[in-house]
Amino acid sequence: TDPKFIRNFSIIAHIDHGKSTLSDRILELTGTVSQRDMEEQLLDTMDIERERGITIKSQAVRVAYTADDGQEYQFNLIDTPGHVDFTYEVSRSLAACEGAVLVVDATQGVEAQTVANAMMAMNADLEIIPLINKIDLPSAEPERVKGEIEDGLAIVADDAILASGKTGVGVKDLLEAVVHLIPSPEGNAEGPLRALIFDSYFDPYRGVVALVRVVDGSIKKGDEVRLVNAGTEILVEEVGARHPKEVALPNLSVGEVGYLVTGLKDVSQVRVGDTITSRVGGVTEPLPGYREAKPMVYTGLFPIESDQFEALKEALEKLSLNDPALEWEMENSHALGFGFRVGFLGLLHMEVIKERLEREFGLDLIATAPSVEYHVYKTNKEMVSVHSPQDMPDPSEIDHIEEPYLRATIMIPPDYVGAVMELTVAHRGTFKTMNYISPTTVEQIWEIPSSELILDYFDQLKSRTKGYASLDYEFDEYKPGSLQKLDILLSGKPIDALSFIVHKDKAYDRGRVLCEKLKDIIPQQMFEVPIQAAVGGRVLARQTVRAKRKDVLAKCYGGDISRKRKLLEKQKAGKKRMKAIGNVEVPQEAFMAILKVD
Ligand code: GDP
Ligand code: MG
Repeated sequence: TDPKFIRNFSIIAHIDHGKSTLSDRILELTGTVSQRDMEEQLLDTMDIERERGITIKSQAVRVAYTADDGQEYQFNLIDTPGHVDFTYEVSRSLAACEGAVLVVDATQGVEAQTVANAMMAMNADLEIIPLINKIDLPSAEPERVKGEIEDGLAIVADDAILASGKTGVGVKDLLEAVVHLIPSPEGNAEGPLRALIFDSYFDPYRGVVALVRVVDGSIKKGDEVRLVNAGTEILVEEVGARHPKEVALPNLSVGEVGYLVTGLKDVSQVRVGDTITSRVGGVTEPLPGYREAKPMVYTGLFPIESDQFEALKEALEKLSLNDPALEWEMENSHALGFGFRVGFLGLLHMEVIKERLEREFGLDLIATAPSVEYHVYKTNKEMVSVHSPQDMPDPSEIDHIEEPYLRATIMIPPDYVGAVMELTVAHRGTFKTMNYISPTTVEQIWEIPSSELILDYFDQLKSRTKGYASLDYEFDEYKPGSLQKLDILLSGKPIDALSFIVHKDKAYDRGRVLCEKLKDIIPQQMFEVPIQAAVGGRVLARQTVRAKRKDVLAKCYGGDISRKRKLLEKQKAGKKRMKAIGNVEVPQEAFMAILKVD
């Protein structure tokens, strides 16, 4: 296709503002997917995406649009995730585009990820088309939202498209705006091949498939190509476009977006951000890459049955094929045996991966409480990165500890300013600035330790603002803090997998509340189980789980077999989530209790 008739754009927005639904309408209106095959949020292909109604992976799809000028255009559109954990997916998608459609919910207005995504698109020099969505709703306030887009984002919104992904209103206007406002790709058709890999995934039948944006030259089946950074050589097995089903094409030419079957078996050889060029006569300089995803939280994942360790390793390897952000290393816990310390982009990413490990791979796992990465400076001047409380050096060897801080953006209606102040200060936040982007929306900037955010900060923020607050954050810097390791002892023995790192001022409260929680969570055993919280051998709090008196089955008088069986089955199901630590059965919730201590 002549680049003049190509338009590459992403759809970006805060979560739930309607990106995926709008993409559905575009697929429908352009006849890419017939009405018969249409299902809601078609591009959300993972089970978890469909169930939770969220987009986790960006999806690139090609549609043909015949515009009012009679010309047929090739649109390559990328539906992106809105959740802060997956911001890096958005940045990858934007690198393949000339434009972005910024969707804002007419009933919600500008929210935290609206700002974050719009900034990313501006920094990538993209043409931004503002679109106010859900105008079918009676509570829609398009004029107010226009004001917020102008004041909060400095984007001219007079001509913002008013649309509804539900009814289809305005979608035609959007397609015309894409034709007229988004620049066509510029590139050298005759030049040596340069194509940017913006995503890759593993297809069990064909190996690694890369999603690419051709910047210069063209690429076809049978071409011998090379990855500039990795040096890997590839014989191209197939190229094509997704509609969203993959359709093979004779070639991908300058400016086009499509897929490329590499035949490679290992996704780590096809890094997102790398540049594809010809094996002979290609370029040596890669295209500018974009920011790497860096884990924010780490958690220990341990198989409940120790013979599932290998299976867990294989499952993590498989998931990493599609998820370059996933990091892991082996971890050995006294309490839980062999497992992995896994790094995630955030708590949602963690939940999703854990759920996939359990559902798609049939693993039964115990996850330990999430932790951030601490920088521990030892008295011998050495610095160690600590991802797991159990790796914390002995206090006598520690000079000081630094912890990661985030720059958080919080958007709220003015009524909640006080409540948010109180909550965030209690989470060791430092207030930076505040400004009104409309009479109904205030933007606050805070500095807050990452470790506080992964305690249930977001849930509390939501509940204290009746669901109105939205939050975005990015890593800011490491700063020193008075931090210490808090140990939990069961029957007098420290349980490494239950220990965590806490600020000195909060050690006592957290220890006390956690002991109380654990007392309720740990089921009664045949003997008494003392629970203690201690810092460096000093006990801060103590509780006791009383011994169980009777056998569970004793209640059943022996007669009722089916009731007895049911009871045993129930116990068995409950066991799945339990791990015997020494002689104490500890359920999964015990490891997460630390997250809900306030
Ligand atoms: P995304 O997170 O931005 O991809 O948002 P989705 O497309 O998944 O939509 C979030 C929710 O808003 C879903 O329940 C949709 O059915 C609903 N929704 C999306 N667009 C519209 C719209 O134009 N009008 C109405 N009333 N609801 C919409
Ligand atoms: Mg979506």
